[in-house]
Amino acid sequence: MQLFDTHCHFQESGCADNPQDMTQKLWAKAGSPSSNDIIARAQASDVTGFMCVGCAYTDSVRAISTAAAHDNVWASIGIHPHEAKVHLDDPALLEKFAILATEPKVKAVGECGLDYYYENSPRQDQQKILRFQIELALKHNLPMIFHVRDAFEDFWPIFDQYQGIRGVIHSFTATQKELDEILARDLYVGLNGIMTFTKQEAQLAAAKAVPLDRLVLETDAPFLTPAPYRGTICEPKHVRTTAEFLADLRGESLATIANATTQNARKLFDL
Ligand SMILES: [Zn+2]
Repeated sequence: MQLFDTHCHFQESGCADNPQDMTQKLWAKAGSPSSNDIIARAQASDVTGFMCVGCAYTDSVRAISTAAAHDNVWASIGIHPHEAKVHLDDPALLEKFAILATEPKVKAVGECGLDYYYENSPRQDQQKILRFQIELALKHNLPMIFHVRDAFEDFWPIFDQYQGIRGVIHSFTATQKELDEILARDLYVGLNGIMTFTKQEAQLAAAKAVPLDRLVLETDAPFLTPAPYRGTICEPKHVRTTAEFLADLRGESLATIANATTQNARKLFDL
């Protein structure tokens, strides 16, 4: 059995250049495990493929280096909506970012999207940097990893202005209505540990309704540790916990979930 973590951030483990950065802080709390250790623990849980997802320029460069060092790790380059303003204000940085798309192990663009829940960057800037990344992905024929939080009503009109976008809505926690919109556009749906501890029935009902051929699994490590491991740092190995939970919820075998989601991940990222 093989599982695939389509969304994790372990390229930041051991990095300490940004004391504000929550990702770096969490990895430090976990003792800054090496990529080798994280991958070995994941493999012991049958998690054998990893997409390291960038949220900013430097983070994307690190994702590429981590991918270069390991056979089963790939990289996605992205500017998170939280980081929109900093990047928009620096055209030279954006230019350097765009060049990363030609690196051999870069298999996606994102995470990018809109986050109106935190709104750490102005909405206009979030929309501009989203468009920039959509155009970059289309130019290089790369799929996209979208982060959309409390913002689908602005996200779809932008998305629909373009033809041929492929990708995944990561950390899906919405309801049947949003699921229908996603499926109508042939996107994949990424589910993670939130499913194991959510109290919202509508989220679980939607997770149950995702067609098997559209489903991919992720951790968002070091965030979103699934139950019953809440309170510890999330690692890619925890994909298995979410897979087991979903197998139960959906009435499918673990092997069925594992096979389908791993195959979907490979198809999504052209691996
Ligand atoms: Zn993420």
